[in-house]
Amino acid sequence: MTANLDGQTLAKQLRVLNQLVEISLVMNAMHQLDPLLHYLMEIAAEITDSEAASILLIDKNTNDLVFTAATGESGRQLIGMVVPLEGSIAGSIIKEDRALIIDNVKADPRHYTGVDEETKFETRSILGVPMRKREQLVGVLEVLNKQDGRYDDDDIRFISALASQAAVAIEKAQLVNSLEEAYADLDRLNKLKSDFIAVASHELRTPLGVILGYATVLREDSHGELSDHAQMVLDSALQMRSLIEGMTNLRYVQIDESELDFAPVPLHEIMQSAYADIKRLAEAKDQIFEIEIPEEPVELRADRARLAMALTNVLNNAVKFAPPGGVIMISAERHDSEYWVIVRDNGLGIAKDQCEKIFEQFYQVEDPMTRHHGGLGLGLAIARAIVERHGGRIWAESPGLGEGSRFTLALPVTREG
Ligand code: ADP
Repeated sequence: MTANLDGQTLAKQLRVLNQLVEISLVMNAMHQLDPLLHYLMEIAAEITDSEAASILLIDKNTNDLVFTAATGESGRQLIGMVVPLEGSIAGSIIKEDRALIIDNVKADPRHYTGVDEETKFETRSILGVPMRKREQLVGVLEVLNKQDGRYDDDDIRFISALASQAAVAIEKAQLVNSLEEAYADLDRLNKLKSDFIAVASHELRTPLGVILGYATVLREDSHGELSDHAQMVLDSALQMRSLIEGMTNLRYVQIDESELDFAPVPLHEIMQSAYADIKRLAEAKDQIFEIEIPEEPVELRADRARLAMALTNVLNNAVKFAPPGGVIMISAERHDSEYWVIVRDNGLGIAKDQCEKIFEQFYQVEDPMTRHHGGLGLGLAIARAIVERHGGRIWAESPGLGEGSRFTLALPVTREG
């Protein structure tokens, strides 16, 4: 008889052990909280031979307990139902911070009858254990109506282990939730910033147009010193216009592929268009600016204007960061199914740890307060967005500060003519 009992106990413990192993496997595989808690409740009821199982979590605002998971079809009805902390068995488990076994619930004055009345479920016996997230009490896991006999210490041990598994799952889900919320907040703030810049740059255009207009008239109508002053106003206003254009172009950072106007375009045309745009700037700094077009004809599927803009932004930087009299080269070469357009300069160079950061919006290597070069820190972010919408990549390399830079735009080739 004893041997038989031992055998039964052993068999049960083995079953429990197997269940615990299975639970940890399932916990790793399941990422949705609700089905996971539901699964844990089914196991809790099965192992303790109970009719039902449920989790109640403390609502931090109201300090009540709220059903968060429960077994079976009738369990669904329970989700969201509230049980007061005062005057309930679950509340007593929290307050006493220990497991409770109630063999005859009806005779217990702490029993809260509200839930049974609503669900028509008849609670006879309860085993409940507190649930902890780290050191903090967060709720209660209960199993109800043991089919055969009474709840015992083995049940408490198993349910306590399950309760801590459930608490870990809940904490993980809450962390993921708050991360998702933080990302949504960031997105919202980012959009606010972009909207503000769009509105501000638009609003700045009108008065600037007036300044440009009158400065031109003044310069033409006057002579001597006054004309020089008008020229200075005009130069500054032109500089301001190019900054405002940069701000307006911020929208291209978020550009969607559907907003691009794709067509077959010969690569050399894009290179030549960007070259022509920048040539005068390089000449003004006495720089040597060379272009090397690939010998074989290459065709890209591209938005001609936007891709030229990406390349122009990179060339603009090369002129800006190369010294007067410096050298800038633009060339292209084939790499498997890509054509790499390469812009080299012998300028300031970029430290290794900055080569990726410079593609972030508004990022500039120089301290904004002491920098010598103008700009908004948007050119490369725009270039990257455009190149990526073309299915390409863009990156920067430099042997180090003072040793020049090399920017590569790797673009997928569609067809060679
Ligand atoms: P901006 O040129 O308006 O500051 P960009 O996004 O075009 O903005 O460039 C970001 C930063 O990357 C620049 O401020 C500069 O610090 C660095 N950078 C870009 N191109 C070069 C280059 N050719 N040589 C050295 N540094 C560069």
